[in-house]
Amino acid sequence: MQVYDVIIIGAGINGCSLAYALHNKGQKVLVLEQEEIASGGSGAAGAFINPKISKSGPLKELIEEAYLYSLDFYTQNFPDFTNLAPLLHISKYEDENEKVDYFKSHTLLKTSQAPKETLSHLRPYVQDFSSVYLKNNAIIEAKDVCKAMLKGIVYKKLEVKEIRYKEEIWHVEKFKTKKLVLCTGAYNEIISEPYLKLRRIFGQRCDITTSTPMEATIHHEVYVSATKKNGRLSIGASHYLNQEDLPLIEQGSQKLIDLAMKSVKLEEVKVHSSYCGMRSGSNDYLPLLGGIVDAKKSLTKAPEALKGIKTPVSLIPELYMINGVGGYGFVLAPYLAKHLCQHFVNEEKLPEFLEPKRFYYRWAKKKK
Ligand SMILES: Cc1cc2nc3c(=O)[nH]c(=O)nc-3n(C[C@H](O)[C@H](O)[C@H](O)COP(=O)(O)OP(=O)(O)OC[C@H]3O[C@@H](n4cnc5c(N)ncnc54)[C@H](O)[C@@H]3O)c2cc1C
Repeated sequence: MQVYDVIIIGAGINGCSLAYALHNKGQKVLVLEQEEIASGGSGAAGAFINPKISKSGPLKELIEEAYLYSLDFYTQNFPDFTNLAPLLHISKYEDENEKVDYFKSHTLLKTSQAPKETLSHLRPYVQDFSSVYLKNNAIIEAKDVCKAMLKGIVYKKLEVKEIRYKEEIWHVEKFKTKKLVLCTGAYNEIISEPYLKLRRIFGQRCDITTSTPMEATIHHEVYVSATKKNGRLSIGASHYLNQEDLPLIEQGSQKLIDLAMKSVKLEEVKVHSSYCGMRSGSNDYLPLLGGIVDAKKSLTKAPEALKGIKTPVSLIPELYMINGVGGYGFVLAPYLAKHLCQHFVNEEKLPEFLEPKRFYYRWAKKKK
């Protein structure tokens, strides 16, 4: 049986973006997925490509860099599944006005006054909130883009239960590979390392038709997309901490529409399709990108980590992850995939602040 260069577990936007990047660099890639392509959080996503509207900080800067990269990436490589449209972001509460005003006065991104046409769709209630109108944003057709990324790449439907490393080769069920990447989103981890903890958030999206043509995406309590190439609009939000709180799918769609209608006037609305899914977030909200630390081995070799010293770590050989991308998976995935691909192919260094080892140090210090 052939040995792949890289096996990727999980065909969400992270797994698919990485497979696409590696395949384009001539790597032999296999993608393993337990259900179908983009059946997890990625299939449910509104897949809005926009920056984080907030004050400065590592997450905001990262998302902005990834947003600029991904906007170009989707437009150039997947134009059929990329809907370009401006975004009018309106603060959710009065308390958020300051944050939006700060963003507006400091950003280098292209902003302008929202056109009268866009403002005419708004309810009077939201017009008192601070807002920012960003010219360059996109809405991606989530499932279509994931499927298109895997064109020409070997893909198998398989739930991976066990992985084993033997003689410098990973054995993933009956498949073999030199490198293994876990892109399993908010699903149960295949390996168990005590410092790797991810939070799950559940959410819903519905695609609707309406007789109101929308030329911009509007974000207030929920995202209401501009009218897409297929004539539909997507409404999406992901903020339920418990699966039990997630409304049944029809009620969920109605709830999304009700929330959308609080800010936007939409006529003759019909639900076309509804989706629900979960996304994963890390404790510091930054993604996890890179090699996975063997906590037990690292602590035995360098117990000073218990005192908060950043000792050298032992990595599990050739095992990597991309996860914890929160509500920005479609923004971050192509950018993170580019980094991991360059790391594999050109041995470029990964951004250290995204490596999972940061959580190992925090865990070791707390353990003491
Ligand atoms: C309602 C909603 C709206 C969202 N809106 C946006 C948005 O507008 N913009 C944005 O950028 N992001 C958005 N997100 C977030 C985005 O969807 C996620 O960040 C992204 O989908 C995460 O991708 P992923 O590949 O890490 O995980 P997933 O898409 O969940 O993929 C993981 C895959 O791994 C597979 N898998 C897991 N375990 C195994 C195993 N043992 N064997 C085989 N396969 C396995 C799963 O079946 C799944 O298909 C939204 C999320 C939700 C839920």
